[in-house]
Amino acid sequence: MTSTSTEQSLPSLSHVLDKIKDAVHGPVKRGVPTVSLQGNFKAFKNIIHFITDPEGLALNSLWNFNRQYQYIRDFYSLVCPNCTPQGVDFANPYDCWGKTPAQLNDDVLFAKNPAGFYECPNCHKLQSDFNMPRYNELIGVCGMRSGKTMLAALILL
Ligand SMILES: [Zn+2]
Repeated sequence: MTSTSTEQSLPSLSHVLDKIKDAVHGPVKRGVPTVSLQGNFKAFKNIIHFITDPEGLALNSLWNFNRQYQYIRDFYSLVCPNCTPQGVDFANPYDCWGKTPAQLNDDVLFAKNPAGFYECPNCHKLQSDFNMPRYNELIGVCGMRSGKTMLAALILL
């Protein structure tokens, strides 16, 4: 995926949900639409919070699709490398396969601070303090029924 300068205003959450339904079930479209949220739309800590919060998309099924969760978490580089270095904690592996929804929910992820920067709630370092990758494309290979289609729709937002 790549970002474009095409922007569209969204008056409500139902409009966002229509976008997801269209992305999942609609015809293939060229280009990548981007959206901007206006009005009194709630501010979310990060994409995981936006997807799962009852005032966001309220898609709690994300906790049951480990790869979908992990791809979104890692696409947006939400794991603080200072607090969760890969491969160090064998009791809580970086890879999400086999984790329970509660274990996924326990991940400490970067969250937007009042200044609008992603900050680790544990060590208070900013995401920009690290040389984190900023992806604009995703090639995902994961098994059947792993939530790939919904993943693509969620990242489209
Ligand atoms: Zn941290």
